[in-house]
Amino acid sequence: MATMAGLSRSQLKELTRIVGDRGVRTDAGAKSAYESDGFMLERAAPSVVVLPRSTQEAAQAVRVLRDAGLVIVPRGAGTGLSGGARPIAGGAVLGTARMREVLEVNEVDRYARVQAGVVNVHLSNACDSAGLFYAPDPSSQTACTIGGNVGNNSGGPHGFRYGSTTRHVLGLTLVDADGEITELGGAFPDPCHGYDLIGPLVGSEGMLGLVTEVTVKLLPQPETVETLLCLFEDLDACCDAVSEMIARRLEPSAIEILDRLTIEAVEASVLRAGYPANAEAVMLIEVDGGAHEVAATSEDILQVAKEFGAFDSRRTSDPKERKKLWAGRKGAFGAMGRIAPDLYVADVVVPRTRLREIVQVAAEACTARGLRLANVFHAGDGNLHPNISYDRRDKEEVSRVVEAGAIIMQACVDAGGSLTGEHGVGLEKQDEMCMLFSNDDLGAMKSLKAVFDPAEFWNPGKMIPVRGCREIHTKPLPIDQGEVVS
Ligand SMILES: Cc1cc2nc3c(=O)[nH]c(=O)nc-3n(C[C@H](O)[C@H](O)[C@H](O)COP(=O)(O)OP(=O)(O)OC[C@H]3O[C@@H](n4cnc5c(N)ncnc54)[C@H](O)[C@@H]3O)c2cc1C
Repeated sequence: MATMAGLSRSQLKELTRIVGDRGVRTDAGAKSAYESDGFMLERAAPSVVVLPRSTQEAAQAVRVLRDAGLVIVPRGAGTGLSGGARPIAGGAVLGTARMREVLEVNEVDRYARVQAGVVNVHLSNACDSAGLFYAPDPSSQTACTIGGNVGNNSGGPHGFRYGSTTRHVLGLTLVDADGEITELGGAFPDPCHGYDLIGPLVGSEGMLGLVTEVTVKLLPQPETVETLLCLFEDLDACCDAVSEMIARRLEPSAIEILDRLTIEAVEASVLRAGYPANAEAVMLIEVDGGAHEVAATSEDILQVAKEFGAFDSRRTSDPKERKKLWAGRKGAFGAMGRIAPDLYVADVVVPRTRLREIVQVAAEACTARGLRLANVFHAGDGNLHPNISYDRRDKEEVSRVVEAGAIIMQACVDAGGSLTGEHGVGLEKQDEMCMLFSNDDLGAMKSLKAVFDPAEFWNPGKMIPVRGCREIHTKPLPIDQGEVVS
């Protein structure tokens, strides 16, 4: 691993010359603003935050940081929920907050080229007038960046139909540990000339280099879009209805579920969406395509919901109403701030037929530990987000949260699922990787990292467990890596 030396006065001056005064921060305010991402349990202060404006500036800055012996954590908006963008104490943060330009929207060939710091929703806004859109739509899309989406291979409600980020990236510009710039792919699908190196980079959680520009596919906006809201008295039945919809070959673009506690939090917030207070669970569905296809699919979906006990439903194609219904869903994590100061957002995946079982495991794990659980999830993808409210100042409560999280993850792995659907591994699930992978598997991942980053310069100590699996042996651990500051 690269050593943790410090920047000399002349290196600091050189960084300032490259990125300008506003691009180098060493003050206490910046250190505290950058000390964690959305995974609030883990904090560590960097020694410097560097914010380049272009690929060239980023490459030059990397050379200075490398000469200073500082490890680097790439950062977009810091909305990640697994600690991937948490700094390494005393190291550098290389952020893309000043790389916000949409460089090209090509309507004819249907692609866009953007700087990595472009906010997800700004990309769809930029191509709206051309009748195009960018499909991956994380619920954090008003803040998170395209570079961060690449880092975590992010999904979103519409990932059900359109897939996660990896299905939409055509090309990348990468700055490596030597400060070299590499172009991978381009505006058109590569006709298989050599290895596909974009694959390993999407979802690499900032461990292989800094992505500075991204070329993505754009899709034509659908002719018709309908949003459906189905109300259930029972969360289990709501989960089972999802499996049945898929079994009947229905293909909406999104199927989301919110439980009662989430509904209450949303309805008490400024994002009030009109979700009824008498429902134990609501299913929010979107159907898009040609007008006839949408009408038929919506009918069939409402029929299945009814068969599984939905006691009421709504259906709208009015853009304002649809926006309101989705604002409630997309603001759900934020709304939970009303319940407790901190929120642990688990992110696990199971076959859809096992949804109700994991919901129950999560409920039992939390009830037994006196924790409050709310569920909001991408049900169509089998991607659950059990959300546990807590107060990070209460260390004992924190360890109960970590314990409940590990139980939920183990149950998902046992059910044939996975540790993460979209939030990445980061620090949160690093040791739990041993639930899913052997030491040999993890060794292969280390070898891949070594090809890109032999000196462990980029985001070291993340994703791949630092200790061997035999030592960890899937036991839930207290959060103890890095410099934890409360
Ligand atoms: C309210 C809320 C809702 C959310 N909903 C969703 C959701 O629906 N779907 C979903 O997938 N996620 C969701 N997330 C998680 C998060 O927003 C996504 O993971 C998002 O893609 C992170 O983007 P970011 O710009 O904030 O990246 P960061 O958090 O800054 O970084 C994420 C990871 O990518 C790396 N990285 C960042 N930029 C680069 C770069 N330019 N080059 C290389 N590596 C880089 C970082 O090192 C880190 O490992 C949600 C988060 C919140 C707070």
